[in-house]
Amino acid sequence: MSSTSVQQQKTVFIWFRQDLRITDNQALTAAVKMARQQRLPLKAVYIATPVQWQRHDVGPRQLDFMQRHLRCLQQALAMLGIELSLWCCDTFEDVLLLWQQQLEQQRAVAIFAGREPEINEQRRDQQLLDAGLPLNLTDEHCLLAPGSVRNQSGEMYRVFTPFFKRWREMASRKAFVPLPPPAPLASAISVPAPITLPVALGNSESWRAGEGEAKQRLQQFVLQAAEDYAQQRDFPAIDGTSSLSPYLALGVLSPRQCLVTLLATFPEAIVDDTSPARTWLAELVWREFYRHLLVAFPHLCMGVSFNPLGSDIQWRQADEDFAAWCEGRTGYPIVDAAMRQLNQIGWMHNRLRMIVASFLTKHLLIDWRRGERWFRRQLLDGDLAANNGGWQWSAGTGCDAQPYFRIFNPMTQSEKFDPDASFIKRYVPEVADWSLKQIHHPEQRSHAQLFTVSDYPLPIVEHSAARARALDRLSVLKKAN
Ligand code: FAD
Repeated sequence: MSSTSVQQQKTVFIWFRQDLRITDNQALTAAVKMARQQRLPLKAVYIATPVQWQRHDVGPRQLDFMQRHLRCLQQALAMLGIELSLWCCDTFEDVLLLWQQQLEQQRAVAIFAGREPEINEQRRDQQLLDAGLPLNLTDEHCLLAPGSVRNQSGEMYRVFTPFFKRWREMASRKAFVPLPPPAPLASAISVPAPITLPVALGNSESWRAGEGEAKQRLQQFVLQAAEDYAQQRDFPAIDGTSSLSPYLALGVLSPRQCLVTLLATFPEAIVDDTSPARTWLAELVWREFYRHLLVAFPHLCMGVSFNPLGSDIQWRQADEDFAAWCEGRTGYPIVDAAMRQLNQIGWMHNRLRMIVASFLTKHLLIDWRRGERWFRRQLLDGDLAANNGGWQWSAGTGCDAQPYFRIFNPMTQSEKFDPDASFIKRYVPEVADWSLKQIHHPEQRSHAQLFTVSDYPLPIVEHSAARARALDRLSVLKKAN
């Protein structure tokens, strides 16, 4: 035995990644249990990888939100007698070396962490395991682990409805019990200095940080809004959805906490098709579906269309149109209100995400990958699985996608889902004095209006011509449909 290994202090590690919480955290619970039973010190670490974040298009606003949650986590762990350290390296490729350097003075008996579904994250973990590090991975991200929900041929489902059916059969036989926060390991410690990420941060102040906030939002949603969710979820002017996605994306809240809180009020939700909570449950399972897909088809993490015919689509470069879409000045008020909501608060209502994604990929014929990147850089809830799934669904290139010939009409969508234009007026004040007809049908603005000087642009494409162009260009996907 060498003299260095004699001096090495045996240590248990908990490595936080996309699971920034102390409640219902299997990895943390296991780490605390081992440290307590074997009377070993427990260290908590978070590893910042700024270059990797840039490669993954993690946006400055989500990084700010992450820093704020890390600070809350730091406080919560300090109350349990555990210190959270921030380590830094550029990319995932550097993580192994970082661990090896850190372990020169202390021997890791075990490193506990939650398994992540994305390919680079999986490769990073495999590298550590291959190097012999005692990494113990728990499944925190889904209610049923990726790979466990399969069809009769043992394959991953490619369509949501049968996946959901099988998921419900399996889930109804399982007891879901969220873990409480672990009991303190030692007396509370003081926090030396709040964690500061070595990156440029945006502003996420309009969203409160912390597990307490996430739990409270969940409770409030289940008690006050879940029952009416199916009727209200499509109207962006109404607060009809949970707005929990920013918390779920960073693991401040677990899907198990969501399900168990839902079942406390709607115990029938998993088995009963008529349960008022069934629609919200289905959304939680859409989240799982996209994660399971990512694990079954890792090429989805590399910007590849699920449908191989997607690579034959001739997208337009159209940089000016793309900039108009990003900045919310396409001349279609519903599209512009949505994009301004995204740019202002880092979140967008699901109905609007579908409308603007269809508009970009079909009306403007711009590659879905550019929209996916823009979303990722702006969203507080940026999440590879859901974002990629949503974009490919909208473009018609994805698994169980909206067919290429189904093209959202932004005018009828506007009329149907924001009938009194109250959402539009909130974000596009330039149209506040227009009639509802003009707001919903911007192509029909009167001649008088067209000739008056207005701050608001004319539509950048004409709907029926854009529709015909999309049908023609996207028909390369026909063979698959
Ligand atoms: P609720 O309606 O209350 O739903 C509860 C939870 O279920 C959500 O918080 C979310 O975690 C999950 N969920 C709901 N709908 C979906 C869905 N269609 N797919 C996957 N999970 C879902 N969601 C993200 O979390 N991150 C993204 O980066 C993301 N990008 C998207 C891009 C496009 C083009 C589209 C069409 C959808 C995208 N979504 C994404 C899915 C969905 O729009 C958001 O999850 C939802 O709007 C979040 O609002 P909420 O928390 O109020 O959801």
